[in-house]
Amino acid sequence: MATLESLQFDNSFARLPEAYYSRVCPTPVPDPYLVCYSAEALALLDLDPGEMARPELVETLAGNRLLPGMDALAALYAGHQFGHYVPQLGDGRAILLGEVLNAAGDGWEVQIKGAGRTPYSRGGDGRAVLRSSIREFLCSEAMHALGIPTTRALAIVGSDHPVYREDVETAALVTRLAPSFVRFGSFEVFYYRNQVEPIRHLADYVIARYYPELKSLADPYPEFLRAVALRTAELMAQWQAVGFSHGVMNTDNMSILGLTLDYGPFGFLDAFDPGFICNHSDTGGRYAFDQQPDVAAWNLTRLAQALVPLMSVETASQAIGDYPQDFGRAYLERMGAKLGLAPGKDAASLIMDVLQLLAQNHVDYTIFMRRLCDFDSAIGALNAPLRDLFRDRVAFDAWAARYGAVLRRQGSNDAERAAAMRRVNPKYILRNHLAETAIRRAADFRDYSEIERLHRLLARPCDEQPEFEAYAAEPPDWARTIEVSCSS
Ligand code: AMP
Ligand code: MG
Repeated sequence: MATLESLQFDNSFARLPEAYYSRVCPTPVPDPYLVCYSAEALALLDLDPGEMARPELVETLAGNRLLPGMDALAALYAGHQFGHYVPQLGDGRAILLGEVLNAAGDGWEVQIKGAGRTPYSRGGDGRAVLRSSIREFLCSEAMHALGIPTTRALAIVGSDHPVYREDVETAALVTRLAPSFVRFGSFEVFYYRNQVEPIRHLADYVIARYYPELKSLADPYPEFLRAVALRTAELMAQWQAVGFSHGVMNTDNMSILGLTLDYGPFGFLDAFDPGFICNHSDTGGRYAFDQQPDVAAWNLTRLAQALVPLMSVETASQAIGDYPQDFGRAYLERMGAKLGLAPGKDAASLIMDVLQLLAQNHVDYTIFMRRLCDFDSAIGALNAPLRDLFRDRVAFDAWAARYGAVLRRQGSNDAERAAAMRRVNPKYILRNHLAETAIRRAADFRDYSEIERLHRLLARPCDEQPEFEAYAAEPPDWARTIEVSCSS
């Protein structure tokens, strides 16, 4: 177990040439206090949980003091935002403190988001508010517990320092961990500046550290692009299967490691609605739920273009050419597992048809999938708890009869299928209203217990937790007024 003083820093990104970042120190915040932390994320750094009680740690996560061995910087990147190229973005409010090397030999970059202005802040204040920090903290840890690749969140530190958004709010910093925060936009910035060497050097760095199996290839770049496309396809399949909508799929928010990155106005589906738009500012629905797989493909094309200086256009387009099939296969696999069906034509048509029924009947996606685990294949259409979710019972009965028949034909055992389905159909997800309740208590009363409760609940999303039954319910009426936007 490490103490603050015994953490080992590697700082591989900081050892790259300065073209990729600006060295910058966090701007201190007054009187920081610990809001919450994730013991599981702490363990990634081998940090002793007892260290959380030390004021030095809170001061460090607030950006008020650096530890020996840290090398603070803000990374440069660009990106396509809502379809338009923006030549200079970069960490406008996140500062990479350093990369911790744990005992297992894994490197974890430690980044504090909301750490003050950097050379990439443009007009922004470099801060993040408590509200958005709570959402990012809870969602990254919840996604991890769901088995979905994501950046992690170690802690939130708050300060009463005022931050001006639509209203006056208070500042907070989320400590994020990831093997790397390199984005598609980290490559795009050099492509649009016609700088080939920085593209090659960054690709070599990412390959050597994160795609080491490709390192020895004579020409690793096309395989690298192919590997990123595959990870992205698998990530999209997981988002679609769980009903997660990211909200701002700009290329600067696309991880080169296929991680869920930059939690902003994200949302989980309540009632199944393919056109669901979680970001109140996304009036055109560019990033609507059902657009995500195609947007990822478009974003991959932007990455492929940025890598064209390292390969021919034809090679680049071939390297991402399997994305549609990879996504389709991964998606059908995940959805088949959620329905307890062996892969094949029957599964595919049952999946498509049930999603259409859910949409037409405004059925809660998570509740339906969880109840489906207990489907009794002998009584088919008469499964009352499921049937009650639908207005159009006739249509549901017809689907349930087909589903039951396929299950029987596949020789599916109800008890075994139920157990397997419960492992892939979460009972608890971070619904907006749950996050909102935790936010209001924290902001209005400095009461962080609801964050803690949600964090604990969502660490075991697929387990029955009877004392938390109410957290699995459909959103209450007041939740309709919650609006989330890019403001954070
Ligand atoms: P996001 O939509 O959060 O991914 O942010 C897009 C870009 O705006 C990134 O370069 C951020 O660093 C930057 N940004 C967002 N909010 C702020 C802020 N309050 N101050 C400075 N830069 C910001
Ligand atoms: Mg971003």
